[in-house]
Amino acid sequence: MTIYTGPVFEMAKKQFGVVADHLEIPEDERDRLLYPKRAITVSIPIHTDDGLTRVFEGYRVQHHLTLGPTKGGTRFAENLNVGEVGALAIWMSWKCALAGLPYGGAKGGVACNPYKLTSRELESVSRRYMQEMIPFVGPHTDIMAPDMGTNEQVMAWFMDTYSMYQGHAVSEIVTGKPVSVGGTQGRREATGRGIAYLVARASEKLNMDLSHCSAIVQGFGNVGSVSATTLARRYGMKIVGLGDHTAAFYDPAGLPLDDIERYVTAHRVLADWSKQMVIDPKDLLTQKCDVLVPAAVERVITETNAGKLQCRILAEGANGPTTPEADTILDRRSDEIFVIPDILCNSGGVIVSYFEWVQDLQQLFWTETEVNAKLEKLLEMAFTQVIKRAAADGISNRNAAMAIGVGKVRAGKQLRGLFP
Ligand code: NAD
Repeated sequence: MTIYTGPVFEMAKKQFGVVADHLEIPEDERDRLLYPKRAITVSIPIHTDDGLTRVFEGYRVQHHLTLGPTKGGTRFAENLNVGEVGALAIWMSWKCALAGLPYGGAKGGVACNPYKLTSRELESVSRRYMQEMIPFVGPHTDIMAPDMGTNEQVMAWFMDTYSMYQGHAVSEIVTGKPVSVGGTQGRREATGRGIAYLVARASEKLNMDLSHCSAIVQGFGNVGSVSATTLARRYGMKIVGLGDHTAAFYDPAGLPLDDIERYVTAHRVLADWSKQMVIDPKDLLTQKCDVLVPAAVERVITETNAGKLQCRILAEGANGPTTPEADTILDRRSDEIFVIPDILCNSGGVIVSYFEWVQDLQQLFWTETEVNAKLEKLLEMAFTQVIKRAAADGISNRNAAMAIGVGKVRAGKQLRGLFP
């Protein structure tokens, strides 16, 4: 019996099984590594703007506490469930271990549609969620961060709610806060910047000149928008395709990114940006491009479209965008498509979150130049390790990244032993 059900959890479990087989982890050790330490479910009642009371369900899953506190984002999404949150917490563990951060993975969220809440309702959901979580989180137990559907403002409300209960400002309880309340320079951009940096590293390996290359990005929220603008402005790439949950656009001649950015800042979504260049969102990922960045939801590259991808580099900005069935197809196409797996590709976010936590604990703040230099250093180490391990073991980049992450968590558990 397990509470962790659904396709996303099954996916995390399957991926772990493949790596556990590769590492020859004995059967009796596997559940201890895979299953989360704690799962908390809470009811979140709020007053809506139309005078009614509405209750949302909230979750927090803490995967393991072996190497330090847990760390992970908070997702506000309509169909969120504990299985999905559990899978995301597990992926965070492998990601943190791969990057060498002293954390276990966690994830949380509320089953709500943030696009349908007013700003006041969103604040109520955010504050009540944090209030319900106070007994289970803390700067040395579990540190929250943003994820899909949440942003710097939500983190500021989390920080304020927690701090009100402590009686003093506790900025180190969440990362991804605005800089003015203890956030770090460079956190908002960190995930997208990291993705662009790793795309550049992969392109060097493949002898591609990015200034002559094109990219398609799915998702135009925090991760997607910063990935697209950094690929275009820092590396000179042409962005030929963009999409979100409301619309998708494709033009081989290149899309006007500045105009799109301004439009989304004003309207939140891509819908109705233009009547030209419109494409069915489900066809976006299979259009021709050099670099494909899924930066929205999980399970979008499946056995149905993996054989049709036309990119040279698949840079997984989202968590879990590729199903294990699609991985089998991509493994067969490894000479054509270079995969930068999610737990490496989007790790810039948690790396700079770690920097934010360290700065908050010390009350000593770094410049954006320092943050970016340290970010690139850790990404470089992780990228090099993954490439080396994949070559040495003859496995995919995903399995290499996971083998390193799982191996480090396993070593920690073995050294600490099993209490009592
Ligand atoms: P966000 O809420 O800022 O943006 C999400 C984007 O995805 C929006 O543009 C939304 O319209 C789009 N989207 C949602 N459902 C979609 C669908 N079915 N099809 C196409 N587009 C869809 O979220 P974000 O923070 O940018 O996170 C995006 C992904 O990156 C998630 O998988 C998240 O877990 C992952 N991630 C985020 C961070 C971070 O620092 N925010 C770090 C690591 C990984």
